[in-house]
Amino acid sequence: MATECSKCGSVKIRFRHQGRKVCGSVGIAAGSAGGAAGAWSGSQAGAMAGAFAGPVGITVGGLAGAVFGALAGGAAGGVTGARFGSELDERVLDNLECQDCGHTFRIRSAQ
Ligand SMILES: [Zn+2]
Repeated sequence: MATECSKCGSVKIRFRHQGRKVCGSVGIAAGSAGGAAGAWSGSQAGAMAGAFAGPVGITVGGLAGAVFGALAGGAAGGVTGARFGSELDERVLDNLECQDCGHTFRIRSAQ
């Protein structure tokens, strides 16, 4: 599919992916906040599970639970944010930029 600048007609067009970048970062931040909550409950659960193995088990179990909870939350948030940002790029934002005149615009969907 040939895409032309709607202003100068140039075919030197590049994708901007702004929404995906921004939303991906926001998603990671939000996910990390969720991950912190996950880390807390993870450390509680880990400590409880480790309690059978004594004080060392409590420490190791708590740490493992905290790390796992934080990682899971951050990764899930980043993926969700990036997916949402891609939708924004496609449907809402000016996702194309002309490299000749700098004009930004978006593809008019054929549907
Ligand atoms: Zn142009």
